[in-house]
Amino acid sequence: MSSEQLNYYQLGESIHRRFQAQPTAAAALELLYQKGLAAGHVIAVASGYRSYQQQLKIWQEKVEGRRPVLDNDENPLAIKDLSSTELLFAILRWSAIPGFSRHHWGSDFDIYDYSTLPTEDYQVQLTVAESDDQGIFGRLHLWLDQIITQDCSQDFFRPFANDRGGVAPERWHISHAATARSFEQALTFEQFKLEISQSSLPLKPELLKNLSEIFERFILP
Ligand SMILES: [Zn+2]
Repeated sequence: MSSEQLNYYQLGESIHRRFQAQPTAAAALELLYQKGLAAGHVIAVASGYRSYQQQLKIWQEKVEGRRPVLDNDENPLAIKDLSSTELLFAILRWSAIPGFSRHHWGSDFDIYDYSTLPTEDYQVQLTVAESDDQGIFGRLHLWLDQIITQDCSQDFFRPFANDRGGVAPERWHISHAATARSFEQALTFEQFKLEISQSSLPLKPELLKNLSEIFERFILP
């Protein structure tokens, strides 16, 4: 993907970190941010555009045990007890294959509510516990549930809202549909197969052995 269109943006005031995104997605997010402010929420971006290299680093650290690999309940797994295929599927539950993250598109954001952080130096983890109804970001997400279903003006949706046995349901991950569409349409099995075959990714043999299952469960939108 061309990264020339990716610019740096910031929501609201200087309390917010800068993030990279496509202009169309950033403009829509700014509108959502303003709408949130009016309803008492301060939307902040934990992650916008992410490069191949950044995703590769996450992937390598998980394969090598330098970053926790979590089970369905977000508890760290003892990866030495897993086969390499089990490790692959455990990583895929929470992390995309480098080259196949929606964060590469500049259309997708991981968000939270700055105004409900328990302390100023609180480290946002983006966990189910933080983002479910009772969590510290629950109020934001309950509001977003309404906005996303009733008012489509900003055209955001949650691509991982329902657990289809693939990527875990990440309530904090929103996607700007109009910006993401062309990237979604370009995702074909042939291209996926080609990119994995040409890559030198850790767990490549396990990826190649399970290509069609992975494509259906984790790659197809
Ligand atoms: Zn995300």
